[in-house]
Amino acid sequence: MPPVFRFAPSPNGYLHLGHAYSALLNVQRAQDSGGRFLLRIEDIDPTRCRPDYEQAIYQDLAWLGIAWEQPVRRQSQHLGEYGAALARLQDMGLVYPSFESRAEIARLVRERDVAGGWPRDPDGAPLYPGAARAMSATRRAELIGSGVPYALRLDMAAAIARAGRLSWHEAGRGPGGEAGDIEARPEAWGDVILARKETPTSYHLSVVVDDALQGVTEVVRGQDLFHATGVHRLLQVLLGLPAPAYRHHRLIRDDNGQKLSKSTRATGLRTLRAEGISPAEIRHRIGLV
Ligand code: GLU
Repeated sequence: MPPVFRFAPSPNGYLHLGHAYSALLNVQRAQDSGGRFLLRIEDIDPTRCRPDYEQAIYQDLAWLGIAWEQPVRRQSQHLGEYGAALARLQDMGLVYPSFESRAEIARLVRERDVAGGWPRDPDGAPLYPGAARAMSATRRAELIGSGVPYALRLDMAAAIARAGRLSWHEAGRGPGGEAGDIEARPEAWGDVILARKETPTSYHLSVVVDDALQGVTEVVRGQDLFHATGVHRLLQVLLGLPAPAYRHHRLIRDDNGQKLSKSTRATGLRTLRAEGISPAEIRHRIGLV
């Protein structure tokens, strides 16, 4: 079976040089290994994703000279499949609803911080500070019944107890130079959100379901997702899904050494194209020749 690679952007902004690097690296590795290259549109968040951004992804990738298999998997069309995976985790007793608003969570974190530095996840966001895991089944049912919004969270301690120790083989490098066999540390993320009342999935859940369903064997993506791999390995083991090989690549930075953002026009592929820059010059700029 040929290896299967994928590039999985979210249509919540225009692609930049970092996306070009990731997409071209995937294509190059697929070509070098006689593998397949898939494009997946990660559009589960209806508040941030837009059809015009999705069209721009197709145009920008085609302009770079990239071809991908059809049909493109668009996550918004597969919510039922993520819901089925979520239901399996619920059946294992590993999921609970939490009802705090963003403002309440921020207040709880402030209180905990005063008491002595509340832990942050690898992206710098505070871990879930609430106590919803201990809420009675009756109270949960009452709140859900009354229409209060909620998030469904993974009971991380119970999930880890069930899955045991996990690792992955890193063929690239982590942000701190990590390579080789890496111990997964999903606990660093606390009780992550797996779904919300209005969106029956999350990035973590849909990415592992899709990588498995699409037969992805090689995940090549930016180092900003290195630590998230710990959560992905945990979900793969709980759901009985195969683990792809992981290769995290360096991030493209701007002239000031900052990570690129979809909102910075200067490094956007559309802007560069409008300025008359060629795809060959893009490759040169990101260190691919
Ligand atoms: N959709 C994610 C992003 O745009 C990438 C997912 C992945 O490569 O695992 O950052």
